[in-house]
Amino acid sequence: MYMAKPMAIELQNASFGYQKGHDVVHDVSFSITEGSITMLIGPNGSGKTTLLKGMVGLLTPTYGTVNIYSGKPKDKRGIIGYVPQRITFDQTFPITVTEFLKSSHRGSDIEITEVLDHLGVVNLAQSLIGTLSGGQLQRVLIARSLLGKPKILFLDEPVSGIDIGGEENFYELMKDIRTRHQVTIVMVSHEVHLVSQVADQVICVNKTMLCSGAPEETLSPEIINSLYGHDVSSYKHNCH
Ligand code: ADP
Repeated sequence: MYMAKPMAIELQNASFGYQKGHDVVHDVSFSITEGSITMLIGPNGSGKTTLLKGMVGLLTPTYGTVNIYSGKPKDKRGIIGYVPQRITFDQTFPITVTEFLKSSHRGSDIEITEVLDHLGVVNLAQSLIGTLSGGQLQRVLIARSLLGKPKILFLDEPVSGIDIGGEENFYELMKDIRTRHQVTIVMVSHEVHLVSQVADQVICVNKTMLCSGAPEETLSPEIINSLYGHDVSSYKHNCH
C-alpha cells in the first residue's frame, strides 16, 4: 500500500516581522514533505531569511501558524539544524575545527572525521577556525549541524562565498547529504538557474509567497520577471 510521506513543515497564513505592526513577510502558506529539498528564492530584502527564522523558531508568527512535524518549532529544536547566513570568528580565535566540533558535544571522533570527509574539508580538521574562508566555514557549520542528527537542515545562502568546487558541486553534495543523513533540506538560494536541477520544491518570496511547487511548474518567465525584474543576468538565469 502506498504511504504518503509525512509533512515535515507546514505554514498556514503565517506572517512575520521584527517590530509590532510591521510584518516583513505576509500570509505565507506551504507544506514541505519529509526527505525533500526545497529552495527559497527571491530578491534581496524579500524576506527569505525572515521566513527561515520563522521556520526554525527564532521568530514567532504574528499571524497564522508554523508547524514542524505537527509541533511548534521551539519544541522541535532537537530535530532542527540551522546554518545561518553569517558567523564570523576572530582570526586568532584559538580553537581548531575538530575542537570546535567537539565543543558542541556532538559526535564521536570517527563521526567527526567522517562528516568532515564527506563535506570535503577533512584536511582542515586541525586548522584554526578563524582562518577558514567563508565557503570552508560554511561546510564546517553544516558538519556541526549534521553531527546533531537533525531531521531538517535549514541553510541560509549556503553558496555565498563558496570557493571549493563551485556551486554545482555544492548542490550535488546537498543531494548526497539528503540521502546519507536522511534529512529534509530547506535552503535559501541565489542560483535560480540551478534550482531546477536540485530542488523538489521551490518557494518564491517577495514580501509574500508568490508561488510554491515543483521548479518546472513554478519558475515561469513571468514569475522570474516579477521576482527579479527584466535583468536576471546577475542571477545567471539561463532558461528562456
Ligand atoms: P532576504 O533574506 O530575502 O534578503 P530578509 O528576510 O533579510 O530578506 O529581510 C526582509 C526585510 O526585513 C528587509 O526589509 C529587512 O530590512 C528587514 N529586516 C531583516 N532583519 C531585520 C531585523 N533584525 N530587524 C528589523 N528589520 C529586519
